[in-house]
Parts: sequence; structure tokens; C-alpha cells
Amino acid sequence: MNINPRSAYLHIPFCHRRCFYCDFAVVSVGDKARGEIGPASPLIRSYLSLLHREIDLIGSGSPLSTLYIGGGTPSLLSPSQISSLIEHIQKIFGFQFGVEITMEIDPASFDRSSLEQFLDAGINRFSLGGQSFEDEILKKIGRKHNTNDLIEACSWIDEIYRDGRLSTWSLDLIQNLPGHDLDLWRSQLEQALQTYAPHLSIYDLSIEPGTVFELKKKLGTINLPNDEIASEINRLTSSILNEAGYARYEISNYALPGHASRHNRVYWSGSGWWAFGMSSTSAPWGIRFARPSTIEGYEKWLYQQEREGLDNSLLKNNAQKIDLDDQILVGLRRREGVDLDALGESWGWNQDECEIYMNSLKSHWKEFFETGCLKNLGNRIALSDPHGMEISNQILVEMILWWDSLPDAAVGRPKL
Ligand code: SF4
Repeated sequence: MNINPRSAYLHIPFCHRRCFYCDFAVVSVGDKARGEIGPASPLIRSYLSLLHREIDLIGSGSPLSTLYIGGGTPSLLSPSQISSLIEHIQKIFGFQFGVEITMEIDPASFDRSSLEQFLDAGINRFSLGGQSFEDEILKKIGRKHNTNDLIEACSWIDEIYRDGRLSTWSLDLIQNLPGHDLDLWRSQLEQALQTYAPHLSIYDLSIEPGTVFELKKKLGTINLPNDEIASEINRLTSSILNEAGYARYEISNYALPGHASRHNRVYWSGSGWWAFGMSSTSAPWGIRFARPSTIEGYEKWLYQQEREGLDNSLLKNNAQKIDLDDQILVGLRRREGVDLDALGESWGWNQDECEIYMNSLKSHWKEFFETGCLKNLGNRIALSDPHGMEISNQILVEMILWWDSLPDAAVGRPKL
């Protein structure tokens, strides 16, 4: 770790409206956001100028191999606004040959012509937030688009991809939504396969505090699949997509060979990354830093950085290692799992310490090895698919209990 970061994330917080399951830091601009109340609105223009100021603050860096424009709904911006952000990033960092430039898009916020213009701006990977192919469900989860919008968007993107003007693309769906059962979910997966998306992100619905869904759950007015059906849905996803040739390279991500997201792998591999924008989290030199989650807070923070200098966590000479438990936490999400001994050694443990502490972790995980949820892959330990991935939270909770049980000296806590 602590090599120069090669990836950057830009956060665009604007959305038409807040979906019922979403707890991200987003700013709703209304369903009709276009022109003066869309990309050209003072709110969006002033946010973009903050974003450009933050990019300027960093000043320089090594050429990037991935750039990810996420949100929110970045496709609410005009192609020229996207183009100017990409140009600015390129001016400060430069791009490596073959750079992956991803943009998240929503079926309700672009047309065929803006899609072409996003390509001209430099985007070479789209990530499309489809979530469901059922109109009834799209309504129930508060999305603005309908099934036809989604199918049309997929066919435009597929056409551009086949023409060779796009490197790859991804479609997002959510499983275990209200009203899902096995048959309905099977038909959703079949429709996803018919789009020919080379990458699929399948997220499990989670009910987050402060969302409409949390309220509905409290009131008992949400019809979620029970635990048994939810597990079967999870297994069905894994088996249908594996059979169709998609490798599950991370808990929620499936890709045809050569189409895994390079940007997301940076987060899971423990490498550093830059991030810019309200509520974004960066970890360029090993320490995570989250920016304020409102535009006002972000503006104040930025002004302070400009006046008083960059926050310590953003400075190279304050580089620190990412905590070992954090490295295991993110590493275990990947299909290739983690090499515990190598991680222990790079954390600074000698051979004896590695053996003692990692054996202790393995005994915390004993039951998961016995039930086949964890497996040994040579030197590495990985979650099995689908059983281990399905209960990954329990496995990670045991890992955190193990970390908390270690002596302070082993985890790098200062003596009191
Ligand atoms: S479009 Fe995405 S980011 Fe925006 S509210 Fe919906 S789920 Fe959240």
C-alpha cells in the first residue's frame, strides 16, 4: 500500500427523486429536471464549481487507470459538464493507456443522443441502474423509469457496445424486493440475460434507517420475501448466472470473462484511491476520509481546506496502513479471497505471531470451514459461492470479534 493512487471517484449527488430504499446522500431535483432546473440550474452549476475546486486542490498525481463518475444520477448532467470534469481530471492526473472511465446512468435521465455525447466526452463504460423489469415493482420502489425505458436503454447501450464504441457495460438489479418470489425473480434474471450486458451487479435489498422502506417495515405494510425464499432467490441468482457463463467475482458482482469492473476491484484490493465531491470517501494513502454529506457542509469543508491546507489523511507524508481487519473485510468479498499470512506479515507480525493470531482467527471461523462456507484455495481463504457469500455478514462479524480479542500491541493500538 501507499503507492500512488491510480483511481479516482467523482460524486454527483443529484437524482430526480429519492428511491424508497435509498439512504445515500442525494439531492432531489424533481422529476422534470431539465434545462434551468436540470443541468443548467444554479444548484447544479454551483456544486460542479465546488467539485472543480476540490480537484484543483490536489494539484497533481500519477496517471489514473480508472475513473468512476457515480452518484446520485450523473446522467442528469449535460454531456458538456461531464466532458469538462473528465478533462479537468486528465489535466491534473493524466490517464494511463486503456483507462476505464465509468459513468452511472439511470434509464429516466438520458436519450440516445446524450448517450452518444457521453461517449464523445470520454466515457467507455456505463453502469445502468435498472433495478427491475416489472412496472409494478418499479413503482413500489419509487423509481422514475418504467420497464420500457429500461429495455430501450439496454438496447441502445448494447448497440453501441457491439459497434465497438464502448469497452463494456453493466446492468444493476435488486433482488428480494417487495413482491419477489422465485418465479418472478427467475424471469427477471432471464430478461437481464437477454440484454447481453457483459457485467451484472445484483444487490440484495437491505432496509436502511431513514428510508421509506424502513417506515413501511415498521408499519407492517411491506411485503418482503421471507428468509427461506430470500436464500433460494440468492442461490438461484448464483446458479443461473454461473450457468450463463458469468463469474461471481465479488459478492454482488458477476461478469463475463474480461468484464470485471477494474475500478471496484481497487476498493476491494486495498489499493488507494482519490475521491471528490460531497459525501465521497477517499483513501489515497491508507486512511479513509469521508467528506460532509450536505452541499453546505462540503462547501465549508472545501473552503477550510483551501485556507488551511489539506486534511492530514489526504497528505502523502502522513501515509498509514489500512487496518488489517479492514483489509480482511474488503478482501474476503472477492472470489479469490485473502492470503492471511501475507496480510499478517505486511501488517508487521513475525512468523510466530502470524501463526498464533491467524490460527486464532481460523478457530473463530471453525464452524464456517466445517459447513463449507469458507474454503481453502492454496494459501488463500475464500467464501464459497453461494453459501459463504450468502452468510458473509456472520463470517465477518466473527472476524471483528477475533480482531477485538487480540492484544493492543498486535492491532497497533497505542498503549494507554
Ligand atoms: S437513483 Fe440511485 S442514488 Fe438516486 S435515489 Fe435512487 S437509488 Fe438512490
